[in-house]
Amino acid sequence: MEVFSKLLQSRYSSGYIAYHPNTSELDISHLMFADDVMIFFDGMSSSLHGINETLDDFAGWSGLHMNKEKTELFMAGLSLNESASIACYGFPIGSFPIRYLGLPLMSRKLRINEYAPLVEKISKSFTTWSIESLCSRFLWSGTIDMCNKAKVAWSTVCLPKAEGGLGLRRCIDWNRVLNLRLIWLLFSSSGSLWVAWHKHHNHNDVSNFWMQSESNSQSWTWRSLLRLRPLAGKFLRCTLAAPRSERALALHIFLSTIALPLDPLKCDSYHWYVKDQNCHGFSAAKTWEIVRPREAEKSWSASVWFKGATPRNAFTMWIATLDRLPVRSRLVAWGLQVSPVCVLCSSQPESRDHLMLSCHFSSTIWREVMARIDPSQPDFSSWTGLLTWTCGNSNNSPSMLRKLVTQAVVNGIWKQRNNLLHNSVSVTPLCIFRDLDRHIINTINARRSRRDFENLMSHWLR
Ligand SMILES: [Zn+2]
Repeated sequence: MEVFSKLLQSRYSSGYIAYHPNTSELDISHLMFADDVMIFFDGMSSSLHGINETLDDFAGWSGLHMNKEKTELFMAGLSLNESASIACYGFPIGSFPIRYLGLPLMSRKLRINEYAPLVEKISKSFTTWSIESLCSRFLWSGTIDMCNKAKVAWSTVCLPKAEGGLGLRRCIDWNRVLNLRLIWLLFSSSGSLWVAWHKHHNHNDVSNFWMQSESNSQSWTWRSLLRLRPLAGKFLRCTLAAPRSERALALHIFLSTIALPLDPLKCDSYHWYVKDQNCHGFSAAKTWEIVRPREAEKSWSASVWFKGATPRNAFTMWIATLDRLPVRSRLVAWGLQVSPVCVLCSSQPESRDHLMLSCHFSSTIWREVMARIDPSQPDFSSWTGLLTWTCGNSNNSPSMLRKLVTQAVVNGIWKQRNNLLHNSVSVTPLCIFRDLDRHIINTINARRSRRDFENLMSHWLR
């Protein structure tokens, strides 16, 4: 297709084919997306003749023939004679609007009612829910049709893992970053077609970008960009090629005796800076790092998220560490009419620490685990105590093994608690330990080529 592009462009520049009036200044002969090509021309039969020839030449060289059935000719502003003379080339005549990639395509700006089918379709599938609340539903219930109560606020979910979140990005922050990229494109000499089109049709020079005021005649997108100016100003820096006035020059001389950049042929250049570092272009990831909300890093994140963890276990561990498991003491605190006692032992109030650490059901499992890897470790009295232990290292129980086992125990207890509560399935702690034992062996086996898993099997199977 590259060849076809070059071929077509050369016919336009040598005048065999004439540009569409709105695209001549910018030399836009055609746009391509995947297998589709849109060719713009002045509507004259001589131009269509040239286009036809180009297509034939290309087919002769490449064997790729245009499918006339799937091709349409769209005309606007032609006289009857003119349209008759291009109609004889035999292309099916199309009429606007058509749908392209699901969106209506039009020769002018779309009116609100022309968006209606699209808006209706979107609102049918989303009703009043935003994309993020759909993501949240999916995270907590595995489907978008059910609404389980979110265990962790979406703003926390969207923090990086080190700061206590799941490492997702909020749409609103990411969208801001991508809009900042558009501002960057305006200033950088990236050759963006959007920038060229904008500058040409809106008579917008970048020099007045910072000064112009918002008005209703501007497009919605442009106004959103204008609103981002204060933020963009933190990142964008300009290197002046030459001083702007006599006074500026005098100031330069006054301030410094070193040689000034006085080459008047050089253009000003713009750079995108993040934390005083030139990005040499635009970096969405680095910009997002600055734009996103942040929290202090959590010392526990390494006990929850590490390479080699089992995702489901890590997820349960994450919620447990945030103390967001819907244990009964929490449900009671929300005002729900449920019994506060532990599902597993029916004797103590069910808090996270009781359920996971001090319940006799759970302590039986922990004792089996400790007998294998750290016999001197007393029962855990707090969640912090457990987390501290997972970070510790000894010859017989490296931190990696401790973290792996801890997550498996926490998930195993939580699963059994729910199984008993919802399905009335009762299993002994020793059964849970046997499952856990097999799970740990399989996990270590599957990752045995990794260095940090190298000796784990011998430590676990002592
Ligand atoms: Zn209990």
